[in-house]
Amino acid sequence: MKQYLYETHCHTSPASACASWRGAELADYYKSKGYNGVFVTDHFFNGNTGIDRSLPWEQKVIQFCQGFEEVKSRGEKIGLDVFFGLEYNRNGAEFLIYGLGKQWLLEHPEILELRIPDLFSLVSMSGGAFVQAHPFRQAPYLERICVYPKYCHGAEVINTANAVEWNENAIWYAKRMGLYMTCGSDAHWLGRDDLGGVLLPRRLKSAADYVGMIINRDPIGLYTEKDYGLDVVSKTAD
Ligand SMILES: [Zn+2]
Ligand SMILES: [Zn+2]
Repeated sequence: MKQYLYETHCHTSPASACASWRGAELADYYKSKGYNGVFVTDHFFNGNTGIDRSLPWEQKVIQFCQGFEEVKSRGEKIGLDVFFGLEYNRNGAEFLIYGLGKQWLLEHPEILELRIPDLFSLVSMSGGAFVQAHPFRQAPYLERICVYPKYCHGAEVINTANAVEWNENAIWYAKRMGLYMTCGSDAHWLGRDDLGGVLLPRRLKSAADYVGMIINRDPIGLYTEKDYGLDVVSKTAD
């Protein structure tokens, strides 16, 4: 059966302060690696954003979405599916939000203030998916390890920018809690040779299509370019 490879977690410059590649470079790189598409998930204003936080909300949202828009316009030329996402940070936890977009962000400036259970409800009601990113990552910018098994649609159990043991912990956690499992690269610059992603049973028509797979817990494959010996991975490049 043919499978379709999608990146679920990547960042662009200048929307994410820690990223160095522009959208067109990103699109070309994933295309060259055989991906069918990418979800662009720049750091939101409560994470490592490259957007001036003092700007009015509308201006911030417009600038934030430019990273995604650059990838999308290049993707349309080269035949790469490009969908919007974002990475939301709250103290010791980060979340990948899929299926929403610029208009939704413009209408919801309150999202920076919401408690995670309330944000999860709002995203769900709005037709989005809410996936906890790298739940067991340890880094100075993460104040504590904080997991939300009841307030997410799934967990990014493999983040190929993570240490292997953090991913092993996340796999254990997701299995224990019965959480839907996803995989992504958290790519910020050109040249990574350890990407990951999800293998889907069909080509996505929209971000909502992927949201539906997550919510319905459709079987998907997890892909890593390198082999880490993780039993949840269905395919590696090697
Ligand atoms: Zn980053
Ligand atoms: Zn990230």
